[in-house]
Amino acid sequence: MAGPLRRVQGHREGKARTFKELLDTATRLEQHFKDMQDIEFTIEQGKLYMLQTRVGKRTAMAGIRIALDMVKEGMIDEATALKRINADDLVQLLAPIFDPKEKKAFEKAGKLMTKGLNAGPGAATGRIALSAEEAQEMAAAGPVVLVRLETSPEDLAGMVAAEGILTARGGMTSHAAVVARGMGKPCVCGASALSIDIANRTVSIGEVVLKAGEDFISIDGSTGEVFAGQLSAHPAEVNQVLVDKILKAEDSETYQRFATIMNWANKVRSMKVRTNADSPHDADVARAFGAEGIGLCRTEHMFFEGDRILAFREMILSKDAEGRKTALAKILPMQRSDFEGIFEAMNGLPVNIRLIDPPLHEFVPHDEKGQEEMAKVLGVSLEEVKHRVEKLHEFNPMMGHRGCRLGITYPEIIRMQMRAICEAAINVAKKGIVAMPEVMVPLVGHVKELTYTKGEMLDELALINQENGTDFSCPIGTMIEIPRAALTADQIAAEADYFSFGTNDLTQMGFGFSRDDSGSFLPEYVAKKILEDDPFQSLDQQGIGELVRIAGEKGRSTKPDLKLGVCGEHGGDPRSVKFFHKVGLNYVSCSPYRVPVAILAAAQATLEN
Ligand code: PEP
Ligand code: MG
Repeated sequence: MAGPLRRVQGHREGKARTFKELLDTATRLEQHFKDMQDIEFTIEQGKLYMLQTRVGKRTAMAGIRIALDMVKEGMIDEATALKRINADDLVQLLAPIFDPKEKKAFEKAGKLMTKGLNAGPGAATGRIALSAEEAQEMAAAGPVVLVRLETSPEDLAGMVAAEGILTARGGMTSHAAVVARGMGKPCVCGASALSIDIANRTVSIGEVVLKAGEDFISIDGSTGEVFAGQLSAHPAEVNQVLVDKILKAEDSETYQRFATIMNWANKVRSMKVRTNADSPHDADVARAFGAEGIGLCRTEHMFFEGDRILAFREMILSKDAEGRKTALAKILPMQRSDFEGIFEAMNGLPVNIRLIDPPLHEFVPHDEKGQEEMAKVLGVSLEEVKHRVEKLHEFNPMMGHRGCRLGITYPEIIRMQMRAICEAAINVAKKGIVAMPEVMVPLVGHVKELTYTKGEMLDELALINQENGTDFSCPIGTMIEIPRAALTADQIAAEADYFSFGTNDLTQMGFGFSRDDSGSFLPEYVAKKILEDDPFQSLDQQGIGELVRIAGEKGRSTKPDLKLGVCGEHGGDPRSVKFFHKVGLNYVSCSPYRVPVAILAAAQATLEN
């Protein structure tokens, strides 16, 4: 072979040798560190020099895949894989997403309007609706995004109809955020830069002006981004398999990875995971994701469906107990059939039902049309309805006439609810369904509030058993969501069969931060490192967590086997879940779409202790 040719050949062989050396070294490093490596190297005159190696950064999806592949290759065990996966990342496996390329193009074209709080993961796009009614009407013609200053229980039907919810006000546990997460709907809250002009029917920011009813808006609830225009969203494969049942498990690698993680986590964890759900549909979804019961069934949303709001308003606006009882008799069968549906969906699993909690004024009509309708129903003048609505006004409703205070002033409401729950359980039992209700009293601060309420509930139960010739009973527990309740938990435990920590209110009352108004300053607190996190998102372990710990300890000093759960939004936050494991809670409860996150976090909690 001629000289120059030999040199080329030799050069190639040298290159191949160095390349092999690089691969061998990379493999050795990966096997040594038992994780994917990000390496830096140089080749000088045919010699390989390794400059640096460190654990490689990865996207959520890649992280899950790498962990599972390494178990398959025998490099790490299941426990190590479970510890490596960021529990929060599982939400990304479940949420619909925008096409990243399309999103970039929108950003370049100046269509990124603003960024709010990423309150409910997932991507949603639709025409702008400015009210719940409008959202319902428009949804028949195509996808809708409900855009509001903030939402209240009145907006529920509109939230159901919308693909996603965008609010200018509100924090991570505002009504919009909590309800959207419960429904698995994308939600961006606290987008305070947005200007919502109801009179001119526009949503704008600077030059960008969108018209309600006509223009599209797109929200990414995983990042908080708000775009002008229509981006395309795709449903997650896991949901297609488990919820929509339009994709076979064997046809989705993503689903199979998800199922593997859940199986491993279930083998390890000691803490149970329940869900917050108040409809058979939500209960079904959560069960498909692995929920082991309902930890919080908020009953107030049940009052808004269909015609029942009229009967409920009639009850609230009645002059006396007799009027209230007449209206409640109309609501009873509806609420009973709701509970029957939920018991059927959760057959054999516990269902923790909370008695009515929000202030009554949230239910009454504040617009003239609604008030006129009520005047007709009640047979009184419009003026009289206005007067009764005004009487319900409170300056600080979160600390006003709500929670167990409602049942103390209007026992007939909670008696109706107790009856609906117990009769539903008795009815479904006849069909072979195992209903396991637990009934919970909200906002207790003093043991006597619970004693009184429980007395009413047990009286009603005795009547029900007498009428039916049954011997039905169910646990009666309380929420611990007021600091005084936590500090006197030993007394309260004497009356309660179980505790469920309402850490949303406990954070609100313990910190003195309004759940609905703290969006205006909490981001600054986090940015200025006064707080590490938004305490409504991740539990403030030193303060609010200490109240949880004290309450658990005190409660169990009275009743050593007292069951402890949590149903505030923190039940779906991995760091908080680990804290709850440490202080001995039996279960956490979270919105259906966070159940897998809580399952993995509970397993990690066991593995880390
Ligand atoms: C809570 O306060 O933590 C809770 C679960 O109840 P709500 O969010 O309905 O007030
Ligand atoms: Mg509460």
